[in-house]
Amino acid sequence: MSEFDVVIDGGILIDGTGAEPVPAHVGIRQGRIAEISAHPLQGAHTIDAAGMTVTPGFIDLHSHADFRVQGHPQADTQLHQGVTTLVTGNCGFSPFPIADAERMRTSSAFLEPELGWDWTDAAGYAAAVDAAEPAINIVAQVGHNAVREAVMGGDQRLADDDDLAAMATLVQKAAEQGAQGFSTGLIYAPGTYSDERELQHLVGAAGRGGLLYSTHIRNEGARLTDAVAEAIRLARAGGTRLQISHLKSAGLGNHGGVHAALDLIDEAAEAGLDVAADVYPYTASSTTLTTRLPTWALDGGTRAMLQRLGDPAAREKVLTEMRQGQATPADRVMIAHVGPGRYAQMAGQSLAQIAEEEGVDDAEATLRILHAHDGNASVVLHSMSPDDVATVIAHPKVAVASDGWVLTPTGEGRPHPRSFGTFPRVIAHYVRQLGLISLPEAIRKMTSLPASRLGWANRGVLRAGAVADVAVFDADTFADNSTFTDPWHLAGGMHAVLVAGQVAFDGGAPTGVRAGRVLRSE
Ligand SMILES: [Zn+2]
Repeated sequence: MSEFDVVIDGGILIDGTGAEPVPAHVGIRQGRIAEISAHPLQGAHTIDAAGMTVTPGFIDLHSHADFRVQGHPQADTQLHQGVTTLVTGNCGFSPFPIADAERMRTSSAFLEPELGWDWTDAAGYAAAVDAAEPAINIVAQVGHNAVREAVMGGDQRLADDDDLAAMATLVQKAAEQGAQGFSTGLIYAPGTYSDERELQHLVGAAGRGGLLYSTHIRNEGARLTDAVAEAIRLARAGGTRLQISHLKSAGLGNHGGVHAALDLIDEAAEAGLDVAADVYPYTASSTTLTTRLPTWALDGGTRAMLQRLGDPAAREKVLTEMRQGQATPADRVMIAHVGPGRYAQMAGQSLAQIAEEEGVDDAEATLRILHAHDGNASVVLHSMSPDDVATVIAHPKVAVASDGWVLTPTGEGRPHPRSFGTFPRVIAHYVRQLGLISLPEAIRKMTSLPASRLGWANRGVLRAGAVADVAVFDADTFADNSTFTDPWHLAGGMHAVLVAGQVAFDGGAPTGVRAGRVLRSE
């Protein structure tokens, strides 16, 4: 009889804490790491890791795959990167709570949802994901946009006391049902219509529920530091851990702004706040095309916006405000995905190109695209500087996270490559090519650092007793293959991935074993 269920034999172990690599054999029993030894171990199943690096499975703190995983539980794009846990419900968007499923479907359409929408709360959503038997773990956060939609619809107005109480109850209920965080997306409707009083109330509810506060802050351009300061104030008052999502300085005139933002984070940490940030290793972001519109144009939700754009006077007012200036010029805004319709073949083209082909300006082209695709279009914006991205990646309080969602190897459009390559790209480009950070430090940013944001001691680290979520890869060849112009390529160099001791990926391919689940608490 074998002593262990699985043995990872003869690899170089990087334990996730930042410690130096050591040669070691790993014995796994009943889903946990049972022994790490300098001597060979005997197991029922052996993974030959000679020449390979053995690390904790990667924890992606910032995913939007909650809108896709039910339809694509195999999670190919994540397994090829060594990702074993996706933290979802980010930027204020979560697939629960639901008061009006049709409204939720349309307001999250740019995330390409493939969901049943047949639940109303966190428990129902988790049961649906568990029933789909995902290959990797999912962590749910409850999103401010979803909570606000459920109570107030998509309207542009301030919350009254009844609204505040009802929204806080929904945050509390999500926490009781296993959500691990509360997120805001303060550039998106309807979250953008909130004031600091509303956020204080809800972050306070999150704090009482023990949730992480994750935030896509109000401004990532000229007012970046104001927005970071607001997030810090809210987390302090609410008593939450704080996660500043996808930290960046966007817009060509704002480059260099990340230094002041990181200083604020350091000062808050020194003053006692449990604060961190995350970053994806690319100089382009991706979001919905509607972010080019003035926020009042989205009052009432997607259907109301489309109706408004059908009114000539309102349409002219929207165009006038759009023409007053955009942080990212139209030649740097690429269509990523628009679904079926008139502009379906335009993925990969810039707004400027489309405008020129149609003989109009980019504001008019934007409204035409939204009209032709029911308000549903995602874009890639080339708006960051390589120096800023490197500065953020190198900072010790910054985790690696994708902000992605694609889970399938093939598909439509030109999605941002971060869904396919975030984790290998940090190692290929920022560790091997640039030497910006060491390999153990990069692994820490993908494992124990994100685990600490969730208050987890038994994931994100390789030690006896920890959950056996493990990645085994060739550290010399592990690399992203996905680019902005040709994104549909899986990462290369991953050898094996274990989820709770089950072999989900072996010999460079998924095994079909789907041992993931929704993690409620650790
Ligand atoms: Zn975001």
